[in-house]
This record gives sequence, structure tokens and C-alpha cells, in this order.
Amino acid sequence: MIVAKFGGTSVSSKKRILTICQIVKDQKEKDPILVVSALSGVTDLLLSLPSLSKSKLVAELKRLREIHKNLIKRVFKDKNRQKTMEEFIDEKIAEISKLDLTEDKKKLDKLLSFGEIMSSAILANALESHGINVSQVIATDLIVTNDNFGSAEFILEPTRKKIKKILMPLVKKGIVPVVTGFIGTTKKGQVTTLGRGGSDYSAAIIGFCLAVDEIQIWTDVDGIFTVDPRIVKNARPLQVVSFKEAAELAAFGAKILHPRCIAPAIKAAIPVRILNTFNPNRSGTLITTNHKISRQIKAISFKKKITLVNIYSTEMLLQKGFLARIFQTFSKYNISVDLVSVSEVSVSVTLDNRNNLEKAVQQLSEFANVSVGENFGMVSLIGEEITDSSGNIKNIFDILASRRIVPKMVSLGATNINISIVIKSDQVKKAVKYLHQNLLQSGTIASK
Ligand code: ADP
Ligand code: ASP
Ligand code: MG
Repeated sequence: MIVAKFGGTSVSSKKRILTICQIVKDQKEKDPILVVSALSGVTDLLLSLPSLSKSKLVAELKRLREIHKNLIKRVFKDKNRQKTMEEFIDEKIAEISKLDLTEDKKKLDKLLSFGEIMSSAILANALESHGINVSQVIATDLIVTNDNFGSAEFILEPTRKKIKKILMPLVKKGIVPVVTGFIGTTKKGQVTTLGRGGSDYSAAIIGFCLAVDEIQIWTDVDGIFTVDPRIVKNARPLQVVSFKEAAELAAFGAKILHPRCIAPAIKAAIPVRILNTFNPNRSGTLITTNHKISRQIKAISFKKKITLVNIYSTEMLLQKGFLARIFQTFSKYNISVDLVSVSEVSVSVTLDNRNNLEKAVQQLSEFANVSVGENFGMVSLIGEEITDSSGNIKNIFDILASRRIVPKMVSLGATNINISIVIKSDQVKKAVKYLHQNLLQSGTIASK
């Protein structure tokens, strides 16, 4: 059995949908379970609805309908099927317009779920019209999550039970399940979403619960590259990447994979393959535990905008509990910290988002001086055992210095796989470009 997840761009045109039909036919004997994202741009469009004026809202709902209907017109030749699908979309748009559209996270998740519900219906019908036996499955029937709306995590036991109960009988009958990515439900039945890009996570959850042979992530590039190919033209696709490297790349900004999708795959030792729906014959990137460690920098990821918080207090010199108080404060306000750098009297941390930061700063200010820096970004160099080589570290800082880029904070990471450097936001692109050009473009330079 395999799980094959198709991202937004992979389902947004007739050509790509025909490619998916072929991919499913070619792999039919592997008992595929499909996971599908919303059409390109649809989640962003849905997310914008609550903030729109009435007239703009009407226009955007019309655009939402058109995006889906245009695809339906191209994909279905059979007029009856076309009409049924158009009516289905009208029904869903009518349901959306009746929702209470607010920024409230619970309500937003319900709203966002419509993207995947509509795309999976179109894909399931398209596959059926090409003679493939399918069944659309809405993941609120499969994936049980906590109530962290907007970025929920799955709860193993109830999820495994439901996934086995609903998907296994379909697979045994030779039916291909077409499951909505991105969404789940709380134990109380409220719709949740798994975080932006969360369909990868849906695929990993299903793969894990059924201990499948492979998880395939079909997207719009030839696999994991040495750096985001949209940013650096000379980026190279990588044939094999370790789970640890993929996890670091995802956690440190590479959009190619959702950060949470690696853990279930590692736990169940399921290989993950990143493949290109626009180029289905390429072998893509295999993420596996079976690989050689080269001790060389393999890839670069980056975040254009992060927040840097410096916390300083001489009163805490030689006192116990300074760090504990700081991290208790972040934990209390549900703030996730990325990088940390510590001296006797100061701590610097980086954050991905500013939610609740004002409240946390207020509490921290009761026992320390706090400054918050915006306009920072982060560049991360990834590769197993890279910090073992003094050559790697020297090369990185030499390249940055030659471009007058001054690191504001550095983390080498005890896991020996990631060198992350905080720099000014407006220098991130330049740093990525020159680091890639010198370290990765024509194979890796000597690392000693
Ligand atoms: P999907 O809709 O299929 O989930 P995403 O847009 O989420 O696709 O992810 C694919 C994109 O990830 C690529 O188009 C690419 O621009 C970006 N990306 C970022 N870092 C990398 C990388 N190291 N290798 C490949 N793609 C990357
Ligand atoms: N449609 C969701 C998003 O755009 C989930 C996904 O594409 O993986 O974030
Ligand atoms: Mg994605």
C-alpha cells in the first residue's frame, strides 16, 4: 500500500489531472490512497474572506466559483457529470456564504475546509470518469486532532481506529480512496486544520496509521533541491536526503514539506519520495534512513522574516532559574521558540510569529530588560555532521564577510546537522545566493 499526496498545483489543470489518472493507473497494484490539497490559491482566497467588505466578498465568492467551474468545464467532457459537479460547487459556495465569517480560529478552520472538500470531489470524479474505482473521503471522518485550531496535531489511537475502519475496506475492494488533505476534527466534532501546507502531514498520518510501504508527495518541482529553485536558478535536485536533513530543511523554512510530516514517517520507517506531477518520469528525491553521510553541506533553507528577542539581566548573574522563568513565560503564552543563544546574563531567541509576544514581553520585563528586533531573517545550512568540519564553518563566515553580511546570532545546533545564522531581512536573498554559489552550485567544495 502507498499514500500519494497531490499538492495544489498538481490538481489545478486538466493536464495535471490527466497525469494523476496515469500515475494512479501505473501504480494501481500498489493499492494507492490519495490525499489532495485545495486548488492553487484557494486556501489563501478563503482565508481572506472574513476581512472583506460586502461587495468585495461577493466578488471573491464569484471568483472562487469560477476557479472550480473553469476546471470542471475543461476536465469533464460528459455534460451530465459536468452539471453534477457544477451543482456540487454551487452548493458548497452557498454553504460558505451562509457561514459566520469571522477571524475566530475555530470558524476559520471550518471555512478553510471547503477548499479540500471541493478539490477532492473534482479529482475523485475525474478519476472515476477515467475508469478508476474511487471513493471521496472527507478527513473529518478519519483524523482526530487536539483543539489547536489552525495548527492542530493528530491524536494517535482514535485516528488509527478510524483510518483502519474506513480506508481498509475500500482498499481491499480495489477502490482508491481520495482523501481531503489539511483537515481533521476534534473529539467533539469541530473541524480543525493542520497548519498551512498541512496536506503533507495528512499523508504522513495516514501512511503511519496503515504502515504503508511509501509516502509519495507529488508537487511542482523535481524533488528537494539544494535551495528553493524559485529563488536560486542554479539549484540542484538531490537524489537522496536523510529524514533528519529533511526535517531540518522543513523546520527551517523550506516550503517543499510540512515540518510535522517527517516525524510519523521516521517513527514507522516509511520512505518518503518527493515527485513532480509536471515531470512524472523523474525519480525525484528519496527521503530515507538508508544513506551515506557525507559531512558536507547538502542544502540551504531560509526564513525571510523572523523576530529576534534579546533578554538581559545582570541581577540574574549566578542566580538559579533565569532560563526556566524565561521559557515558562514563552510556554504560558504558547510561543514557540526556534533558535536560542545564551550567555551568563542574557538570552537571545528567535520566533517565527509574534502572536502573544506583547504579553510575554510584559511579563519578562518584570525581571529583565527586553528588546524586540524585527527586520531579521535566518539562513540555515543543512547536512548531517556538517559542524564536525571546521572548514564548513570557516567557509560560511568567509562568504558572508566577503559580502559585508554581519551575523547577528549564530546557532550550530548540538544535533550537528544545522548551522543557522540570523542576519538582516534585506540581506537574506543575497546571503542565500552567494552561499549557494560558493558551497553548492558545482558540487560541494572540500569540507576540511
Ligand atoms: P504543494 O502545493 O505541491 O504542496 P508547495 O508550494 O507547498 O507545493 O511546495 C513546493 C514548493 O516548495 C516549490 O515550488 C519550491 O518553490 C518550494 N521549495 C522551497 N524550498 C525548496 C527546496 N529546497 N527544494 C524544492 N522546493 C523548494
Ligand atoms: N490547502 C492548504 C494550504 O494551502 C494545505 C496544503 O496545500 O497542503 O495551506
Ligand atoms: Mg505544500
